[in-house]
Amino acid sequence: MFFRELNRSKCKTYLTACEKSRKAVLIDPLKEKAERYLAFLAYHSLKLDAVIDTHTHADHRTASFDLKELTGAKVIMHRRAPAPHVDLHVEHGQCVNAGDIEIQVLHTPGHTPDSISLYAGDRVFTGDTLLIRGTGRSDFAGGDAGEEFDSITQKLFRLPDETLVFPAHDYRGNTQSTIGEEKRLNPRVAGRTREEYIELMNHLGLPLPDKIQEVLQPNESALDDDRISFPTLAELNRVRQLTPKEVRILLGDSLPPLILDVREAEEYRGDLGHVS
Ligand code: FE
Repeated sequence: MFFRELNRSKCKTYLTACEKSRKAVLIDPLKEKAERYLAFLAYHSLKLDAVIDTHTHADHRTASFDLKELTGAKVIMHRRAPAPHVDLHVEHGQCVNAGDIEIQVLHTPGHTPDSISLYAGDRVFTGDTLLIRGTGRSDFAGGDAGEEFDSITQKLFRLPDETLVFPAHDYRGNTQSTIGEEKRLNPRVAGRTREEYIELMNHLGLPLPDKIQEVLQPNESALDDDRISFPTLAELNRVRQLTPKEVRILLGDSLPPLILDVREAEEYRGDLGHVS
């Protein structure tokens, strides 16, 4: 099996290919690196057969749809992925083949509802579900900490201990791990109950990824179209909504919050009145 990690950055892209047929599969490609991937494929005389996104990414634009347009490769995502231009929506247990490469899809929701892990021979690409000594955040974009715990402990941790783990992100310079190591050493999961994991994950207090709205919208719509409005932060279920009464109480505090007024003139003048 021909195998490379391609980006050398905290966002990881993997290429796996069949040595005989030269058919290649790219996993989680970044939009800004599309030309580099094409050069790499050409240099190694590989033909891009499929591009798989392990989930709808919120932190970077996917190159899947550019690569599909430029090479004819099919785009593969889980059935629950919202992007409309996916060629093959896969389910848990389904196999994707490229020459003698066989990739088994494991539905591992929790980071997002459409998260999948890809099990191929001696390795598993875990997307943002299981990271090296970490796990993917589950606090926005439909994430669910309990589901994530189940995906990790009941699906990924049932693979053989020696299975190599390749995640979609790493922030500490790691390149690979194994299922056995993560079972023993992953501080988020090892020795924790499902309830303890949910409690931990729901209180991480992480900031939203940079440019999340600009990234999520095109990844979900697969269109590079500025006319599409981005989802509101409230729709990404991160920003807490306050009632006028709650705001009034906050304003009475000795240290009142800074209020940034983003109302449009129409809203301000509207029939319903406005908070001053
Ligand atoms: Fe992610």
